[in-house]
Amino acid sequence: MNKNYTYKFRIYPNKDQIAFLDEQIGYNRFVYNFFLERTTNLFKIHNIKFNYYESKKIIPLLKKGFPFLKQANSQSLQASLKNLDTAFKNFFQGRAKFPNFKKKINTNSIEIPQHFAVKDNFLCIPKLKSVIKIKLHRRFYELAKSIKITKTPSGKYYVNILVKKYDYTPYMQDRVKNTVSGADLGIKDFAVITTGASIADKKSIKIDNPKYLIKSQEKIIKLSRRLDKKQHKKTKNDKTKASNNYKKCGKKLTELHEHISNQRKDFSHKLSSRTVNDSQVIVLEDLNIKGMVKNRHLSKFISDVSWSMFTGQLKYKSDWYGRDIFTVNRFYQSSKKCSTPGCGYIHKDLKLSDREWTCPVCGTKHDRDINASINLFLEGLKIGQVLPELTPAEYAPAGIHNTGYSRHTMRQEAYQFIDR
Ligand SMILES: [Zn+2]
Repeated sequence: MNKNYTYKFRIYPNKDQIAFLDEQIGYNRFVYNFFLERTTNLFKIHNIKFNYYESKKIIPLLKKGFPFLKQANSQSLQASLKNLDTAFKNFFQGRAKFPNFKKKINTNSIEIPQHFAVKDNFLCIPKLKSVIKIKLHRRFYELAKSIKITKTPSGKYYVNILVKKYDYTPYMQDRVKNTVSGADLGIKDFAVITTGASIADKKSIKIDNPKYLIKSQEKIIKLSRRLDKKQHKKTKNDKTKASNNYKKCGKKLTELHEHISNQRKDFSHKLSSRTVNDSQVIVLEDLNIKGMVKNRHLSKFISDVSWSMFTGQLKYKSDWYGRDIFTVNRFYQSSKKCSTPGCGYIHKDLKLSDREWTCPVCGTKHDRDINASINLFLEGLKIGQVLPELTPAEYAPAGIHNTGYSRHTMRQEAYQFIDR
């Protein structure tokens, strides 16, 4: 199976190019909003749903009514329409809210499906005569299928390059035999990960929430307080004008938010790559269990937003590199079970505040999170043993999860606590 993947790079347009990009982004926003309004009205009055192909035919007429649209790249306008189509489909199938109008102050983007070129240090796009400076901080060899240029609220520009990943990625050769990782997403630390090929050689590592992330988060809280003290309107009908200091401070805050989001992504990418590199079988716990935990600590707040990013990356990278990833469900008591081999006592009275506990049966002193992570690791080892030795033909394609269903049914039967 082929998968699509996106590479994201910062681009550095000059003044003229910024004007050009902003115009193009504006045309796309205009078309999106125009059809959103039109469809909303049609739907309210006549109960007519959005039709992509009919709407596409209206674009040439729209260009006559709004001549500035003639400057726009037609394919990008169509892509904008396609996005609206997806937004409506998601709404009608109950996956998303009713689409919102696009606003200039939010992140805006323009898709370019054809006639672009990405080279070592520049980017060419249709209708722009000069080339935009780009910094490719990593190499990619796949063919680019389409690109998307994004402008963030603080005025930075990025390009997302969509490529097709093929089955025969060289990484598939590096199948890490019998190595297992169990990751417990901690309350105190970001995660505790136990890795190894057997009970004897396992290692548990505590991964702290990175200090720079905590520092940035503290800065955000401080800056938000400072912003609130500057002159600005406090209610909807308040006529107070925002002061220059308010705007300046607001821009700083937006930049800081972007910065922290990049830091978080970077941290998460490094950790997920390392985990996937180290292990063939990865076992996680259900995030919903942690979600129920109410905790006002800053580290918890950071964890909350980063956990889902981390598990999401683990999942797609596992698929990509042919790893097997599992989630234990909420009935599996990874924290309460004694991880000492042969014991397995369940400590029913374990409270959230108990960081350490001693098993009354075998006497082992446990660190709560390490114990949980070892239990997940042990489940992973069991899965590894249930699996028959795989033939190369079975694991060679990255689409293993779509074809190897017999292996999965086997696991499902053997492990009632484990979901995929
Ligand atoms: Zn025990």
